[in-house]
This record gives sequence, structure tokens and C-alpha cells, in this order.
Amino acid sequence: MKQETIDKELDNYGNCPECGKSWDAGRIWKVWRDMKDSKYYQDKTDEELQVMEKESYSKPYHFSKLIGIEIREKYDGVSYNQCPFCKATWDRWTGELIKDLKEAGLE
Ligand SMILES: [Zn+2]
Repeated sequence: MKQETIDKELDNYGNCPECGKSWDAGRIWKVWRDMKDSKYYQDKTDEELQVMEKESYSKPYHFSKLIGIEIREKYDGVSYNQCPFCKATWDRWTGELIKDLKEAGLE
């Protein structure tokens, strides 16, 4: 059988199935707008920020708090997703919840 290469669906903007906290970090252009110490973003109008957002990101144009973990020797890209609040970790490819982070070499 061909290897499954499609991300098992974890809703990057939903709530953690383990601890229930939200991974939604909000609309990207509004996060930029709120970066008060960034002159680069403060010089732009809301409309300009929305254009930049659409050019560089895809729907739903939100940032996610979910952490992508890359294992360099294993795969060039994210192999695991981790909740920043409870540290629950899922295999990106199978969607499996990793029970033992040490055993998986993630700690
Ligand atoms: Zn969690």
C-alpha cells in the first residue's frame, strides 16, 4: 500500500482534544496590527495588511498556536504537532496521540 502522506486532520484553529484550550491565535492581519512595536506593520493601513495576508497565507487566515515539530534525520518538515498548553503530541501522518514522548525521542 502507498504510504499515507496526507495530514490526519487536527483542526489547527480548534480546541485541543486533550486539554480543551483553543489553538486559534486570531486573524493574521489583526495580529500584525496589534504588534505595536513593529514600525513595519504600523506604517500600513488595514487594507494593505489584508492584501499582504491574502498574498502570503491561505484560508482561514488565522495563526495557530499548535507547535510543529521537525525531526531533521526523519523528514524535512513537520512530523509531529504539539499542544503548547498540555504538551499532547500527535504524529502528523497517522494522527496517533504519542503516549510516551521519551520513547518517541521527543523529550
Ligand atoms: Zn492541550
